[in-house]
Amino acid sequence: MDNQKSCAIIGAGISGIGASIRMRNKGYKVVVYEVNAFPGGKLSSESNKGYRFDMGPSVFTMPEYVDELITLSGKNPKDYFNYVQLDPVYKYFFEDGTVLDSFHGKKGYAKEMAAKTKVKEQEIINYLDKTEEMYELTAEVFLHNSLHKFKNFFTKAVAKGLINFGKIGAFDTMNGANEKAFKDPHLVQIFNRYSTYNGSSPYLAPATLNVIPHVEIVKGAYYPIGGMYSITSSLVKLGKDIGIDYRFGTPVKEIVIENGTAKGIRTNHGIEKYDVVISNMDVYNTYHKLMPTAKKPEKILNQPKSSSGIIFYWGIKHSFKELGLHNILFSENYREEFDTIFSKKTIYHDPTIYVNITSKHTPSDAPPGCENWFAFINTPNNEGQDWDKLIDQAREAMIKKVNRILKTDIRPMIECEMVFDPRVIEKRTSSAFGAIYGNSSNNKFAAFLRHPNFSKKIKNLYFCGGSVHPGPSIPLCLLSAKITTDLIK
Ligand SMILES: Cc1cc2nc3c(=O)[nH]c(=O)nc-3n(C[C@H](O)[C@H](O)[C@H](O)COP(=O)(O)OP(=O)(O)OC[C@H]3O[C@@H](n4cnc5c(N)ncnc54)[C@H](O)[C@@H]3O)c2cc1C
Repeated sequence: MDNQKSCAIIGAGISGIGASIRMRNKGYKVVVYEVNAFPGGKLSSESNKGYRFDMGPSVFTMPEYVDELITLSGKNPKDYFNYVQLDPVYKYFFEDGTVLDSFHGKKGYAKEMAAKTKVKEQEIINYLDKTEEMYELTAEVFLHNSLHKFKNFFTKAVAKGLINFGKIGAFDTMNGANEKAFKDPHLVQIFNRYSTYNGSSPYLAPATLNVIPHVEIVKGAYYPIGGMYSITSSLVKLGKDIGIDYRFGTPVKEIVIENGTAKGIRTNHGIEKYDVVISNMDVYNTYHKLMPTAKKPEKILNQPKSSSGIIFYWGIKHSFKELGLHNILFSENYREEFDTIFSKKTIYHDPTIYVNITSKHTPSDAPPGCENWFAFINTPNNEGQDWDKLIDQAREAMIKKVNRILKTDIRPMIECEMVFDPRVIEKRTSSAFGAIYGNSSNNKFAAFLRHPNFSKKIKNLYFCGGSVHPGPSIPLCLLSAKITTDLIK
């Protein structure tokens, strides 16, 4: 097919993979260039001494966006990708001994929370109704379409959003709204926690982000059969089946631009010409490393970046009945914790810990009687802190906290360890400053200060992924791929 159009995709992160499938279905010849020897970017997997770990995302919502890619390719989703709905989703542990399960659906959720806190069931249902309304008012505008195309501002969805502007929480912070809704500090802390889903502080991020719990609690959280990495592996298999060419171990060195038009890419093997170039590489580094002489949208690129994390991947020689797939061990002073991360730019002395254990659902992820712990704390992004020292501090603080809350001693149970810190995340995925979620959402204009899915200056150059519109997380990255490729005629 001589006149078949061609598309280069830089990066096999989940959004790059999504975009590759969509472009192939538009009839393009598609080549995905990935610097790593493996696909997935943040959504990757490693094994160590009989334990398997998902290295990045662990909470999975909106599986329909994965299914959609398979259906679009004329295949049966069940032949590629399967998942189960979680209920309960989380186990929350507080230092005062309170343990709360987060059940699926408004009723189940409210019943458990009301039984164990001072809040009435109906107050929780009212709150979840509000977050649902906020989601309905904002999703079409902020998640499903480009925010940077003039025509998208003259739609029914925008008109409805504008009429109901007072309801979308643009003028309050997440914490402000949550403190108004609940007198119980446990519930305020639980709902504040959702700011971390895009690496922000609940004391700064707009209350509009309180839509996130609606997605998780009401629309549901899921577990992919075989673990999170099966999202990546299923979609790459699909991509190969429909003729996408994935080139692993092949870093793109430059986006070739001639007369204001992207003409192709340069790798160590030379220049290859394409009709369209889509970068799934972090947008800050796409500008700085792949087209250093192009004019940069400085204001957007220089927005404060999101938080990052320290993650211990521990092989634990024990099975904890009190833990589930997703567990949060909360700090006692959340405000101080976020202030330490975002103002002091260091780690908190007693950080909130997230422990994910996929062997609870996939026993083969750990040897019999053992568990694979992904133990995570939020940290600032990389501004040159002494990470080796901070890792040692984090390990001590985390072990002490787990021991205190679970009344155990995990130290002798840790039979193997791998650790990621912001430097590793930066190196492994090219995320600027090792920030996990691109720009932070710590101000009410953040959604408008993410880079568009296209270049305003360079023709045929597009962007998808967690560092551009509509933002980070697996579902948003898959939506990013859709918005981007829909812009390409
Ligand atoms: C620890 C952690 C926990 C998370 N938890 C969750 C969660 O629970 N749920 C959720 O939904 N999301 C979560 N996220 C966020 C989610 O993982 C990301 O938003 C999403 O995976 C980002 O995907 P992406 O497509 O932007 O690309 P990335 O995953 O950032 O991948 C970009 C790819 O581009 C490649 N690349 C970069 N430069 C080049 C180049 N020059 N040439 C070739 N290839 C290049 C990189 O190697 C990489 O493979 C988490 C992330 C992390 C790190």
